[in-house]
Amino acid sequence: MLRVREYASVTDTGRQRRANEDALFARAPVFVVADGMGGAQAGEVASTTAIEAFGEGLPERSPEQALAEVIQTANARIHEMSRSDVHRAGMGTTVTAAHVGEHDIAVAHVGDSRAYRWRDGELERLTEDHSLVEELRRQGKLTAEEAEEHPQRSIITRALGPEPDVLVDTASWRAQAGDLYLLCSDGLTSMISEDAVAEVFAGSASDEPLESVARRLVAAANDAGGRDNITVVLFALEEVGGGTPAASPDDQATIAGDDAPTAAQIRAAVQDAEVAASDAQARRLQPRPPETVPREETFGRTRVRRVLIAVAVALFLGIPILFGAYAASQAVYFVGSSDGFVAMYRGLPYDLPFGLDLYTLNYTSGVPVEAVPEARREELLDQSWRSRGDAADLINQLERGQIATVPDP
Ligand code: MN
Repeated sequence: MLRVREYASVTDTGRQRRANEDALFARAPVFVVADGMGGAQAGEVASTTAIEAFGEGLPERSPEQALAEVIQTANARIHEMSRSDVHRAGMGTTVTAAHVGEHDIAVAHVGDSRAYRWRDGELERLTEDHSLVEELRRQGKLTAEEAEEHPQRSIITRALGPEPDVLVDTASWRAQAGDLYLLCSDGLTSMISEDAVAEVFAGSASDEPLESVARRLVAAANDAGGRDNITVVLFALEEVGGGTPAASPDDQATIAGDDAPTAAQIRAAVQDAEVAASDAQARRLQPRPPETVPREETFGRTRVRRVLIAVAVALFLGIPILFGAYAASQAVYFVGSSDGFVAMYRGLPYDLPFGLDLYTLNYTSGVPVEAVPEARREELLDQSWRSRGDAADLINQLERGQIATVPDP
């Protein structure tokens, strides 16, 4: 049976943000990272709300279902807060949560905070980002390298908060003693490559405390610019109790299986009583079978019926997707100019034919474009996609002279 040998967590504001809107939970066997967004501390409220939901414990379900249920609860709370308080409108958070069972690790996530496994000198990403760039990569429109470097890689397509319900991705993997898991916010992975993360792991001695490894990851992200809040949670697994995975789940009800338990095993079992109790529900967890599409013959009437169903489904799904795409575009902001002044726009910086714009002017600042140092004008007013908080932050800094008056390096 597996348990967490050691864990560590570090969260850092980074070099450019004024506040840390990331939050984390680390208490074996559950680990969580949340990356909040929204102006005026709303992002902090959102990520903290998600984390607090985990502090209340997991419901009695399979680990995947339990994690997903806590995430749903957190989503409902965040959504309700964002509806009832105008200062919190539009707030949201990512969440990536892991549960260590006796033989498996379950992960549930929404957004672009990630889970990785380091095993036998190889780093494997366990989660797929719910981000615009990742969608484009999946559609083959971007390569993995392009996606990693893309300027709009922080735009997410799924978060806790915006909707009353949220779709949670869950999965489980067989775990091994010696596995090291990493949960992180995008402040790590948008600043340093996965190869750089792997290098940090490869370069750590087996007796290096995880706390120090976590600090080195955060330092690497800061050295690369630290443009976002950085959160790193690490946990390593070890084998205890001497039992190997039993064939039938019921066999595992006794700690040592057929063999009489040794004194060490009993000690480990006592130490682990709490973990084991919370994992009692986990025993029935099996690795998920690969998804298969059921096939059937498609002749005559079946086929006609299928076409009709397809049309109905297309209509049923198509309309919400169009609305969804519109809603998603409204979550995007960019900074540009309006009549010679720096301005914030909501929507996407594109014009469609027939005079249709995908954006509306949201706010015009009192800062003339000429007041922005020429060398930085292009970079700051490049109409790149930003979150509302980012765009507002940038304008705020310009208005307060934090950027305009700083001489160029
Ligand atoms: Mn972030």
